[in-house]
This record gives sequence, C-alpha cells and structure tokens, in this order.
Amino acid sequence: MSKQRVGFYPGTFDPVTLGHRDIFLRAAQLVDRLVIGVAINLNKGPMFTLEERVDMVREELDTAKENLNGCVVEVRPYDDLTIHCAQEHGAGIIIRGLRAVADFEYEYQLVGMNRQLDANIETIFIMANHEYQFIASRLVKEIAQLNGDIRSFVSAPVAERLLDRVKLT
Ligand code: ADP
Repeated sequence: MSKQRVGFYPGTFDPVTLGHRDIFLRAAQLVDRLVIGVAINLNKGPMFTLEERVDMVREELDTAKENLNGCVVEVRPYDDLTIHCAQEHGAGIIIRGLRAVADFEYEYQLVGMNRQLDANIETIFIMANHEYQFIASRLVKEIAQLNGDIRSFVSAPVAERLLDRVKLT
C-alpha cells in the first residue's frame, strides 16, 4: 500500500473566511488526510473562543463535503507548537495560505524555524482564488464592527455569528 499523505493546515480562524475555505478545499485535492488545526492563539486576542472557532470551521467543512475529493478532513483545536501538532497527527506537510507580499516575510521565517525543528516536514503554500485573496479575518471583524456588509467574505452562518458578537460589544 502506498504511504498516506497527511497535511496539517494551522491557523487562528477568528473567524473562518471564504479565503480559508478555498485553501482547505485546494489542500484536500493534494493529500489523503487533512487536519485543520485551530490554534488557541490567545496573544492574538481572538474575538471568538477556541470552541466557537472550531465549531465554525466544522460547519464550514460540513457544507464543503462534496468537494473534498475523498480526502478525510478533520478539525482539531491545539495549544501546542504547530510543528509538534503536525508531528502528533503524522503530517508530512504543513499547508499555509499565501496572500500578498505582506504574508511572505512572516511565513518565510516560520518555514525556516519549523525546518530547524523538523527537517522532514515540508511546508507548502497555496494561493486562494483571486476573488478571495485579499480576505483577512482581521479586516472582516473591523468591517463588521463598523456595520459594513461582510457577506462576500464569510459564509452566512459565520456572518450571523459575527453580527451577533459585534452587537454585544
Ligand atoms: P494565523 O494566525 O496562523 O495567520 P489565520 O487564521 O489568519 O491564522 O490564517 C491561517 C492561514 O490561512 C495562514 O496561512 C493565512 O496566510 C491563510 N489565509 C488566511 N486568509 C487567506 C486568504 N484570503 N487567502 C489565502 N490564504 C489565507
């Protein structure tokens, strides 16, 4: 039997956007099993709790089932080092999304450090479709807080949760 390709797609997903969705759908075409790791990332001061963020990614996944090309995708919260979590899941590939040059510097450092920690895990970058490339969770939250229309950036259930959350703040 050939070796299973396992990918690990880590992120904060605060909240999951159509950009994230596009990346995990593309990643699913490349690996046999994909673990979406939702990082606790308290230093980023998330708007949603870890549990809420995991729920939203799972809901997003549920609506994408037909497009996963047989890839087994699971969503797991984690508060460990990304590389340790990838190892725990037996992943040989870390998947990251790449937007504009702004992402590059940080991602470049991250790959270098992760490679020092485990040279057997390869990081690959995927670009979202052009209509999603500029979407960032941080900006979606800002737009929601200022009563802007966020429906072309996130799915309807995520938009609803965001609007509920900003009403409370
Ligand atoms: P992190 O805190 O790890 O950056 P994010 O949830 O912001 O977590 O992003 C997770 C991953 O998804 C990162 O690799 C990020 O570059 C990627 N990503 C987020 N939005 C997009 C997008 N619109 N297009 C491509 N990649 C994206």
